Amino acid sequence: MTLSGWPADDHVHSQFSWDAADGDLEATCARAVELGLPAVSFTEHLDVGAWQAPPGGWAWRGTVRGSTDGHGRFMSEPLQVQAYAEEVERCRHLFPDLRIRWGVELSEGHRHPVACAEVVGWGFERVVGSLHALADLDHPGQVVEMRGALAQRGVLGTVVAYLDEAAEMAASDAPFDVLGHLDYPLRYWPADAGPVPWAELEERVRHVLSVLAGSGRALEVNTSRPLELVVVRWWREAGGQAVSFGSDAHRPDDLAQRWREVAEAVASAGFRPAADPTALWGRA
Ligand SMILES: [Zn+2]
Ligand SMILES: [Zn+2]
Repeated sequence: MTLSGWPADDHVHSQFSWDAADGDLEATCARAVELGLPAVSFTEHLDVGAWQAPPGGWAWRGTVRGSTDGHGRFMSEPLQVQAYAEEVERCRHLFPDLRIRWGVELSEGHRHPVACAEVVGWGFERVVGSLHALADLDHPGQVVEMRGALAQRGVLGTVVAYLDEAAEMAASDAPFDVLGHLDYPLRYWPADAGPVPWAELEERVRHVLSVLAGSGRALEVNTSRPLELVVVRWWREAGGQAVSFGSDAHRPDDLAQRWREVAEAVASAGFRPAADPTALWGRA
């Protein structure tokens, strides 16, 4: 099919995210205009809790408590909400034809109800709810990021635990509109582990999607890795109403990566652009 337009990029980071050393909000907007995107949603990281820190290179902004050998705890620098809002406002004047949304990527919102209330107060226009960390099996009550989770649970065990917790987050009343990167642990899937065993995971994935559809939220197709089209098909079968496209770009050059191929694949799974080109895609 011919796409009537590019989808908006609804998951983008700039210099206001603690892990985006090459982020640049203004240059990202300029790139969006150059590509012809109708809209871009900045979804800067909003992490409330500390997580077990992976060993090595600390290019991230934040503090590590304890050791840096893989057993310390990392707390990211808080989001500078006011400065972020001002920069978005400045860029709206520079790029009047681009719809620029002001949002966040909220980590593990279901674990932080108090912080969630604060998020609602800020009035963000887009909140992507993401899971970046899982329960730390060695330290009850704490969480560990993916590399640590893999060491504790193995590859398949990590994916299973991720899906179970994603279902819990989707069932919660955490204030997010879109479930981000359900395939996140697959970023760490080792090349020698063979293909992802979807038949084995199908029931769990379908469960997450059905809970998410019931909550009225949208599913994100994150284009930072190749699309898992089967998941989009299951999303439609689960009654999912909307799909969001997110490049998860942490620098301007990665904006809208894999865009046309992913958009065409999502269209083939039964979704299409809304009448408003800046809106999420709906069911065909
Ligand atoms: Zn994320
Ligand atoms: Zn992200």
